Amino acid sequence: MTQNTGVCKYCGQMRIVQLSEDKFYTQAEIDNIAVSECDCDVAKILRKRTMAYGNLRGKLNERMPDEHIDEKEKHIKNLILDAAKLMSETYIDSISITSGQESYSLSLTPKITYKFKIKSTEVESMEA
Ligand SMILES: [Zn+2]
Repeated sequence: MTQNTGVCKYCGQMRIVQLSEDKFYTQAEIDNIAVSECDCDVAKILRKRTMAYGNLRGKLNERMPDEHIDEKEKHIKNLILDAAKLMSETYIDSISITSGQESYSLSLTPKITYKFKIKSTEVESMEA
């Protein structure tokens, strides 16, 4: 192990981070490690969001496994995951996608979990 100093880009705090000796780290990588260990509010929230993104990906893969969904659903799933990734890194709280008669929405709750909803606007009617 070796040590170097990284800076949290959110609060500017300098941190001494432990590094593996047999790997070369750029300053950006060292700074990312500093962020991942920093205890400032923004770094904490972003860590929770990253964890929530991992959970969402796992759940979506369970609910919409690639081998059981069609092309359209694959596009939707990929869009949702891309959006969730961006949401985990930025300040976007919710998005929605409409395709035909379905609408999909994804939001980050105050507890920092993702809520994913599928709504069909198809109206069932009958005439007799
Ligand atoms: Zn920080």
